[in-house]
Parts: sequence; C-alpha cells; structure tokens
Amino acid sequence: MPIDLIDRHEWGARAPRGSYSYLSSTKGVKVHYTGGTVDPDIVNDHKLCVAVVRSIQNHHMDGNGWIDIGYSLLCCPHRKVFEGRGRNHVPSANGAGLNSGHYAVLGMVGNAGFTRPNDGVKWGILDAIDYLRDKGGAGREIKGHRDGYNTSCPGGPLYDWVKAGCPAPSGGGKHSTSAPAKPASPAASGRLLMYVKGRPLMSGADVKAWQQTLRSDGHPVAVDGLYGEHTAAMTRRWQRAHGLPVDGIVGPDTRRKAAAK
Ligand SMILES: [Zn+2]
Ligand SMILES: [Zn+2]
Repeated sequence: MPIDLIDRHEWGARAPRGSYSYLSSTKGVKVHYTGGTVDPDIVNDHKLCVAVVRSIQNHHMDGNGWIDIGYSLLCCPHRKVFEGRGRNHVPSANGAGLNSGHYAVLGMVGNAGFTRPNDGVKWGILDAIDYLRDKGGAGREIKGHRDGYNTSCPGGPLYDWVKAGCPAPSGGGKHSTSAPAKPASPAASGRLLMYVKGRPLMSGADVKAWQQTLRSDGHPVAVDGLYGEHTAAMTRRWQRAHGLPVDGIVGPDTRRKAAAK
C-alpha cells in the first residue's frame, strides 16, 4: 500500500526557523524512538500521535535550538507517516557528523508506556523506508540511532526488529492487524485543546469547562472559553503539578487525571 503521509500542514507544523541543507542521497536510514514515555492509549487514539509530533517539534526547536523537528519522517501506531523535514533535507536527530549519512525515521514508541512497536509502527517504518528509497535517494542501510552513537535509542524492542532487518509483520501488506478500535474512556474523550501561536484561538464549552478546572485547582485563568497563551501556560503548570508530560495540550491523559481528582 502506498505511504499514508501526513504533510506538515495537516499536522500543524511550525515553520522552520532557517533553511534546510539539501541532501541528494543517503546511505540509508537510522531508526529512532521518542526516548520518553508514550501513553499506551496512543494505539486507540490517533489524536495523541499528532500531539506527540507537535511536542517533539517544540522540544527540538525550543529545547535543542534546532531549526525544526530533527526527524525526516515519524511513524505512528496507525501506519501513518508524519512529514518531519522530509526527503532531500538533512535531518538533525542522528548526532553531529552523522546527519547527512542517513535519514532519521522515528517509530513512535518510548522507553516507558508503549514500548513495543505494533504492526502499525512497523509497517509505517517500512512505508517510510520505501518512500525515502524511491523519492529521496536513500540507500539500502537500515540502522538504529545507537549504531555509531552513544545512545539507547531506538530502545530494545524496536532495535531488535531493526537488527533482524525489519521483517514485514505477518498479515501481508494490508493494514495493521493490531490497530485496535477500542474507544477511549468517556472521561478521556474530546478534542485536543491547545494553543498554537499565530492561529485562531480554540473556543467553546469544553475550553470553558477546562478553565473552570484550572481555576478551582488554584491556577488563575479567566473562564472566557478561549484557549489562549495564558490558558496554555496554566495548563502546563497544572500538568507539572500532576506529574504529567508538560505540553500545554489538554488531551486524554490530562482529562483522565482531572476526572480522577
Ligand atoms: Zn534517536
Ligand atoms: Zn496515529
């Protein structure tokens, strides 16, 4: 099946802060993982994948000071592939001196929570590799980030699969057999609330309800139903206080935690 590519516009990418270096070909790809905790519910909720990609981009740009997200492509548990820097652009996730040798492809598993790549992640990586070979001049090598660089990335389970030569999961070239259709629990459902600079503010009763939660927990916000910069900042404070990943995005984890209080 052709690659199911989610382009930058579709996932709401920030514009890069500088221009990419051109790459006509590479020796192949290096496979990465997130290194952090990935919510196991991600397999039930593709919206979480979008949030992960956005938060990685923020971390790479604001934390690492890179011009953009460091990966070429990012593969989620639903066999979808997010466009990072894309093909023919030098990535920055492989480590200094190693970036023009290989494209950087992320499999959306972590070192805690969701750690074992499901069929969707594996097929996504295989689709990404085919695409980079077809359209980006990628060579035959498939390696892990840890090959030639001191890191645990891409984690044990994903690296085992890479070392085995990335065998296609059983079930032929069809859709992932393990993509489950379990709905998220009611407490955790709802759209993702987030603030994106330069975009119209999200508004509505759900924003209002969340602001009410923030307020009653001692994080002062106006309950105006508009998810602006300040609401996002208070959300980050709330997440920090509750031991959650601090991304300022109200998603299933944050909602569940709030509902459980
Ligand atoms: Zn890595
Ligand atoms: Zn997904």
